[in-house]
Amino acid sequence: MTVKFFGGDTVPLEMHKVRVVQKLNLPPIEERQKAMAGAGNNTFLLQNRDVFMDMLTDSGVNAMSDRQMAAMMVADDSYAGSATYERFEAKLRDLFGMHWVLPTHQGRACENILSQVLVTPGTIVPMNYHFTTTKAHIVLNGGTVEEICYDRGLEVTSSFPFKGDMDIDKLEGLVATHGPDKIAFVRMEAGTNLIGGQPISIANLQEIRAVCDANGLLLVLDASLLADNLWFNKTREESCRDLTIPEITRKIADLCDVIYFSARKLGCARGGAICIRNEDLFRKMRVLVPLYEGFLTYGGMSVREIEALTVGLEETMDVDMISQGPLFIAYMVDELVKRGVPVITPAGGLGCHVDVMRFLPHVPQSQYPAGALASALFIASGIRGMERGSLSEQRNPDGTEVYSNMELLRLAMPRRVFTLSQVKYAIDRLDWLYQNRELIGGLTFVEEPEILRFFYGRLAPVGDWQEKLVAKFRADFGDSL
Ligand SMILES: *Cc1c(COP(=O)(O)O)cnc(C)c1O
Repeated sequence: MTVKFFGGDTVPLEMHKVRVVQKLNLPPIEERQKAMAGAGNNTFLLQNRDVFMDMLTDSGVNAMSDRQMAAMMVADDSYAGSATYERFEAKLRDLFGMHWVLPTHQGRACENILSQVLVTPGTIVPMNYHFTTTKAHIVLNGGTVEEICYDRGLEVTSSFPFKGDMDIDKLEGLVATHGPDKIAFVRMEAGTNLIGGQPISIANLQEIRAVCDANGLLLVLDASLLADNLWFNKTREESCRDLTIPEITRKIADLCDVIYFSARKLGCARGGAICIRNEDLFRKMRVLVPLYEGFLTYGGMSVREIEALTVGLEETMDVDMISQGPLFIAYMVDELVKRGVPVITPAGGLGCHVDVMRFLPHVPQSQYPAGALASALFIASGIRGMERGSLSEQRNPDGTEVYSNMELLRLAMPRRVFTLSQVKYAIDRLDWLYQNRELIGGLTFVEEPEILRFFYGRLAPVGDWQEKLVAKFRADFGDSL
């Protein structure tokens, strides 16, 4: 499935060619420092014109194929009864084998509908790991989230292939303690976003299904990151080795009652959908679609996106397509490990996650080390990553900080967007930063919003470490960008 090089290189090979390009800018380091100061040391506030590699997220920014772009031109634009929607619905039925389909404008909209219908005050939703928007909707409806992945799923360095798996003993314990009536549904995330895009195994899903059957529970799959997960099932799980990607997809779907996804990730477009096995449940959810999303044959999506998404879902069944993200991420992770740079292992989907607790042990959590490293990396390279640490937490009601148990810098790898030389550049600059890590200091808030502070809060460096970093860069790289 992967191409071997005669010379012994182990590099991923792009299984596509570039036919449309977008010019990038790489301003000199002095300008990058100014841009970072202008953005309050918050990568969310940078302007794209100052960014060289945008590794903030994989949401809505994966490359689209020529066939997806072409499909947009034949979209059937009508409010009701669109042929585009019929094609979309047929594709989902074909892939997942669930008859009932509802369209939404993005992933969190699926979560709103699911939570309104299934979560009542006092109920519990066990899940392998939470996602921000998922948890928000469950809590809004009076439910609580119980994260019950295996303890090894949270170990930063590991060789365990399926860190996203759910701890079956903990699931059975929860059901025994609270009773099945208190469980709104069991949720699995295929490709757990917040613990580093780590996959789930089919063997684990089968065990969860058995617990659900024994207790009359619904099993809901968040398939937003399913594409990467399918690759890991194929390459890491013995029972999948000889199966095609559509066969693995169906094997997963057959174990679930509901599958929903953000099409900003799955299918390389923008939108979302809920696929449901049971007609009664479908009817309960359906009433909310015209209320929050739009009519049943577009659900808040543009028909052009629906058309592109249908093709994108079909292309997701191609092993050459789904391999690209994981192979490029694995290359980046392996090269960083070789250089001693601390990253989450094994490589997962979504992106490369730098373990900042080990990268900057001298920066206390009160000075947001992951945010500081995001700022330093942008200054050193023009690469925009995302802080996933204490900055992304919310303060306690009494104003004290909530320190997260991991301080991560997430470098997302939008699929089929970057070439190998760009990835090598990112590795090189991270390597340089690690060699010069003692120069990097912390950050302090100058403007701190009460809610979702990581989105638009503004910070300043503690001391003059950024000037020192720029001076060292000039000493080491001369007049290089
Ligand atoms: C992105 C994401 C969502 C939310 O999807 P949006 O389209 O951003 O609303 C939900 N679950 C997972 C696992 C995601 O990665």
